[in-house]
Amino acid sequence: MTPLPAGPRCLTLGGQALPLISPARVYLCGITPYDVTHLGHAATFVWADAATSIMRMAGVEVLVCRNVTDIDDVLTIAAAERETPYDVLAATQEYLFDQDMTALRVRPPTYTPRARRHVDRVIELAAALLESGHGYLRDGQVYFRGFPAIPGGVPADADEHGELTGDHTAREPHDVAVWRSSGPDEPAWPSPWGLGRPGWHAECAAIALSVLGSSVDLVAGGADLAFPHHAYQAALVEAATGVRPFARSRLNVGTVGIGGEKMAKSTGNLVLVADLLREHSPAAIRLLLLDRDWREPWDFHPADLTASAARLDRIYSAAGTRGEEKGSLDAVTSALLRELDVPTALDIAEEAGGDAARLVLRTLALA
Ligand code: ZN
Repeated sequence: MTPLPAGPRCLTLGGQALPLISPARVYLCGITPYDVTHLGHAATFVWADAATSIMRMAGVEVLVCRNVTDIDDVLTIAAAERETPYDVLAATQEYLFDQDMTALRVRPPTYTPRARRHVDRVIELAAALLESGHGYLRDGQVYFRGFPAIPGGVPADADEHGELTGDHTAREPHDVAVWRSSGPDEPAWPSPWGLGRPGWHAECAAIALSVLGSSVDLVAGGADLAFPHHAYQAALVEAATGVRPFARSRLNVGTVGIGGEKMAKSTGNLVLVADLLREHSPAAIRLLLLDRDWREPWDFHPADLTASAARLDRIYSAAGTRGEEKGSLDAVTSALLRELDVPTALDIAEEAGGDAARLVLRTLALA
């Protein structure tokens, strides 16, 4: 393995320097396993994979917790529509997701906790919030007082999030359910407040607490999770533990669109990973996802995959050369650790070749 140049081991994300200390703890919001994996999901998980690999390149151990949201109303509804038990549908879809991730060379996470196995942890969280006055009980449901607990405050467009306004049992629109009562056809577990199930934000808060502890180095997920999901996850953990901040940095990956519209299961506007893999190499698909600013939303055009494959070929050729330019390894390392600037690292790799190109290919799993 090529020795890394000496120097500070710090990842800069969103303008903030994150010192890398082993073990770095990464919480990655995983899938709700009720349908196929599309390119938008792949972008999130490939970017999270690249970020953790870049942290490992810098010499630190990284623990990745990627949950499976196998208790969720969309899953219950999809299972009922297919006349399949919800846990069978979840297991099947999780298996298909894992196949897509393996094909895309996404490394398996250290931990894959499932919400169903952490119901007791959510009950503990709800009890702690009630005891500390951050929560209240109403009609068998435990609510968390969202305001003013949300780090950075509730954004101006918060009312556009239906989840926050559709629950008329809550006292205030920004309060969210930590524990929800269940009807006869809904998944249900016993609790001190009757039969019920966890709220989504509370699941991710309780799992993060249980698996990684009261704070993490990085929270990752799609851009659409930044609010309300990640904001409430952080607020719930911080209210329960008093430890702030819950997350030292965030990676909310830009949304992928097609024809100017967001790629989403609900609209059927989808490019499936499994379909792309039939015609393109995993490395070309990874390069297409990574050769850009991770924050920016973008539109998928099939011809871009041809350009990605050509760029990859040029870097493969460069990696086969001895590589002349002094300092190119340092330059590649610096680019990757500075806002995960993959496009610059790829440019250097293509230009300098040799060790620099091999380091980029290895780190981004493009070889
Ligand atoms: Zn989550």
